Amino acid sequence: MKINLKHSNISSPKGIYLLLLTLVLSNFACADRSSKESLTSSKKKYALVIHGGAGTIKKENMTEAQEAAYTKKIQEALDAGFQVLENGGHAEIAVQQAINILENSPLFNAGKGAVFNHKGQQEMDASIMDGRTLNSGAVAGIRHIKNPINAAILVKDSTRHVLLSGQGAEDFAKLHGLEMVDSSYFYSERRYQSLLRAQGKEQALIQKKSTNIELIDNHQYGTVGCVALDQNGNIVAGTSTGGMTNKKYGRIGDSPIIGAGNYANNASCGVSCTGTGEYFIRTLAAHQVSNLILLNNFSLKEAVRQVIHQDIDSLGGTGGMIALDKNGNMAWDFNTEGMYRGFKSAHGDNIIEMYNE
Ligand code: ASP
Repeated sequence: MKINLKHSNISSPKGIYLLLLTLVLSNFACADRSSKESLTSSKKKYALVIHGGAGTIKKENMTEAQEAAYTKKIQEALDAGFQVLENGGHAEIAVQQAINILENSPLFNAGKGAVFNHKGQQEMDASIMDGRTLNSGAVAGIRHIKNPINAAILVKDSTRHVLLSGQGAEDFAKLHGLEMVDSSYFYSERRYQSLLRAQGKEQALIQKKSTNIELIDNHQYGTVGCVALDQNGNIVAGTSTGGMTNKKYGRIGDSPIIGAGNYANNASCGVSCTGTGEYFIRTLAAHQVSNLILLNNFSLKEAVRQVIHQDIDSLGGTGGMIALDKNGNMAWDFNTEGMYRGFKSAHGDNIIEMYNE
């Protein structure tokens, strides 16, 4: 605010009063401007981080065409989610849109292209968590819901429950008009061949009378996850997966288990995991990252590193995670050869990586 002294007669009491009034008002204007500036800078923190699974992802095993296809799809998901955040939309919509793109692509082990279980079926798990309310929703063992993350959101918003499984989850989704598909929609030849290979290895172990059959780790990952921080400081985390190739007996992994494969809390951070789910359940990996920040004063990077390279690693687990904290800091880490991942932020970051660089 400019102070115009031209018309003020400061020699009269009225003039002095007017000058004081002008000074007070100008102070208000400055305070107002600086509070707007800090609001704008807090709005500038919005960001989105994505993973497309961790595992044996090595440059020497990838063709240029495969690398380009993964990069293109991850960029598409980043752009879709980021556009929501840029327009002031809620973090949950950003997460949903990004994950839907990955679920609809056969490149990833979620939705179309999910891995096969021991019986040759595709059974999928997904979860979502809202960091402001800690409300959560999840589905497990579903076979006909086109976009499992949408079912997780529906469970969060339309039930008193957190996790619905199997037929019940499918009936509920159908009743609420979610898109249902024939199980053949999810088929991909590549994943079916992975199942045959995994079962071949399993047979060989059975013949050798190995006791380690349940622990065959074939590194066929590809789970997808997304964490977003919106302009209002809301953090949402979502994860969607077909689980692990050749899984059996109604096995449910970490992805639909709140605190294990997925967690969000506006006071700390949001986390989405990928890897051998049993280890992420045993360590409550995603929640542990938040705990280390809140209780042990760890930075986001330190917390993610500790969970992957100490907690998970020391038990023999493999995988990785992505995380975003309330200040817009991002961290990702993994103890496998690679992890598909991407990050886009209001500060101009736009990173896509897949190898252990
Ligand atoms: N964590 C998933 C599960 O165990 C698999 C993965 O991320 O690749 O079901």
